Amino acid sequence: MAMNLTRRNFLKTASIAAASVPLSKVAARAESGVVKTPQVAPGSFKNTKTVVGGVCEMCFWRCQLVGKVRDGRLLKLEGNPKSIDNGVSLCARGNGGVAMLYDPDRLKYPLKNVGKRGEPKWERISWDEALDICGKKLKEIVDKHGAKSLAIFPHGSTARYPMDFFERTVGTPNVSEPSFFQCRGVRDMAYITTLEIAPDEDVDMANAKVIFLVGSHLGENIHVSHIKGYLKGLERGAKLVVLDPRFSAAASKAHIWVPIRPGTDTAMLLAIMNYLIENEKYAVDFVEEHGEGFDEFAEGIKEWTLERAAAECDVPVAQIKQVADLLAENMPNVAIHPGRHVTWYGNDFQRERALACLTGLLGAVGVQGGLVKPKGPKGLKRINWPKAETAGEGDLRRMQDVHHFHPPGCPTELIREAAISGDPYPIKGCVIWGQNMIQTIPGQDRTIKMLEQMDFVLCTDIMPTDITMYADILLPDCSYLEKYDFIKTGTQWDFSDEHQQYIAPRMALVEPGFERKDSIWIVNEIAKRMGYGDKIPVVSQEEMMAQSLEGVGLTLDKIREEGGIHIQPGEDPYGNNEDLLVYFFSEEMDDYDYPAIPTYIPVEPPPAGYMRLLYGRTPLHTFNRSINNPWLIHEAPINPVWVNDKVAVRLGLKHGDTVRLVNQDGVESRTTTTVKVTPGIREDAVYLYHGYGTRNKEMTFSVDKGVDDTSLITKIAIDPESGAHGMRNNFVKLVKVG
Ligand code: SF4
Repeated sequence: MAMNLTRRNFLKTASIAAASVPLSKVAARAESGVVKTPQVAPGSFKNTKTVVGGVCEMCFWRCQLVGKVRDGRLLKLEGNPKSIDNGVSLCARGNGGVAMLYDPDRLKYPLKNVGKRGEPKWERISWDEALDICGKKLKEIVDKHGAKSLAIFPHGSTARYPMDFFERTVGTPNVSEPSFFQCRGVRDMAYITTLEIAPDEDVDMANAKVIFLVGSHLGENIHVSHIKGYLKGLERGAKLVVLDPRFSAAASKAHIWVPIRPGTDTAMLLAIMNYLIENEKYAVDFVEEHGEGFDEFAEGIKEWTLERAAAECDVPVAQIKQVADLLAENMPNVAIHPGRHVTWYGNDFQRERALACLTGLLGAVGVQGGLVKPKGPKGLKRINWPKAETAGEGDLRRMQDVHHFHPPGCPTELIREAAISGDPYPIKGCVIWGQNMIQTIPGQDRTIKMLEQMDFVLCTDIMPTDITMYADILLPDCSYLEKYDFIKTGTQWDFSDEHQQYIAPRMALVEPGFERKDSIWIVNEIAKRMGYGDKIPVVSQEEMMAQSLEGVGLTLDKIREEGGIHIQPGEDPYGNNEDLLVYFFSEEMDDYDYPAIPTYIPVEPPPAGYMRLLYGRTPLHTFNRSINNPWLIHEAPINPVWVNDKVAVRLGLKHGDTVRLVNQDGVESRTTTTVKVTPGIREDAVYLYHGYGTRNKEMTFSVDKGVDDTSLITKIAIDPESGAHGMRNNFVKLVKVG
């Protein structure tokens, strides 16, 4: 058996996500001693049992899995052949789930911090002692200051049940998912405001004639079925247009690459729309039928000539016109991608509104190749904690009358600010569940300040992370491979003629190791100790799944017999409701004094000697979440800083030089990285993969590797409509080391 997986092959496979990585080969690398990860017997997966029902959570796309298990030990993950979503394909991270499961750094027992927050000394304690402390401390805080004195920062499917408990039953309004707020929350709200549709990533790229990406670096940003659609579209001849200051993986496949000046995308979108309207190259019938406030919109963006945008965006007039004409020639079958991690400049709601308006202007809604809302299965029951009458009292957003278009939950910054200042009330207890806020939101010193003033901090996670260093009690959660906690639903990835839907409950592939417990058990035990025992909605994860599935007449056993995924007839995803409206002018926004038509808000240019710090994804990590994974960090050990080749000459830097980054406020990166000299980035920007430079020494595979870009984001910009942080408003210079 071939055992020599090359780095090149591994990365290639990872970057297309179109085929399952042969894990035996990756395992062989691990076995060779290059990385100290446990143990897949080299040779074969003979005599393994195939366990169905896995649902990946190395990222949040949730591909469906099967596990090869021998003697209770997971040896390999594969895509579930029954899946009409990812099929048998997994990305590199999905395959790396095995290494996550057996990562020796994982949390194993409940821990108590007998040192300082930030410099913890951990003492192993029993579950009873840990839960007693959590129940007592949290109850004391609620009794003294009210439910609103708790801040809850959850993330991922594991955190839904605890979030509901604290928000609904205990009643705190201070719940924020930082990695949702600082990611796609803005996008969802801008599209809902414009099209009454939360877009997710539901663009039918497989059947598009043009795919239009604004900063989306598909191929480096990988979600398997999404990438399949993208590649299928390209294979079928779709033209690809990419706006990106960097020559990304997507730009390398583009028919038109626009190396746009960072922060000016909205200007270009407005100019494209103005040109289309002035030349009657838009979907006139669609706009007449579904458009709201179109005349005000057309009038309001008139100033955006191609020439003006060209100057602002540092893009030739001819290229903007070329993009506009290409879109017009192929409308309505154009996939205007709404993006995913879209919190860039603190003016992001407006850019997302512009994208949604462009989608409407081209009539690219509910049609082949356009924005399509697939119709998934209905009827699953949502199991919930009962809502207290006082729930929501003290809502900071309402009290401050700001961010009227915020995603669900409270803007993270409002909670952080209130906790630090004590105004308008004290926030003294903090529960962080599967969330590493040190790396998710900028202003790390403020996050630490917030935690330092708490009376009690509880963290629950599968791994130690930078934020768990600030916990008083740290609890070990089960990973997604060891529990039942989520039901993934959807439709086939390519919107093919054979319409189908699927229901895939997450089932444990192996038993939890050490003393790890699932979230439902943990929360129920804390709830009992806080006096909410009579409110508990389900006693176990299996019961929760059973109750949810009752709504669609299914059981876990039945789905297991069906191969882990229930498939049923679906519906044609195309077509629009008669009452679909496109709010080119939003009266609702006008009422709250926000710009009612999409508006370009310029960003500050880099000061002399500095370059804008841009960041993005590597296909080998889900930001910091997977950074300690022994297999993945081995393949992508640091995040080299991309520097334009001409700039490198001016600065006297060579490819491979070691540098430290220093930002406009004089903040230096704690660690160093190497320089990647390339013509594939503009001169006014540098680029890093996000999520590196972890500081927690308990993450032995990843500590101090690469540079933590979040630590350099000290200038904070808040998006007025949504309250989310913009994260590309900081500038750096490079200091050569040695
Ligand atoms: S895209 Fe990769 S990491 Fe994300 S769920 Fe699918 S296999 Fe897992």
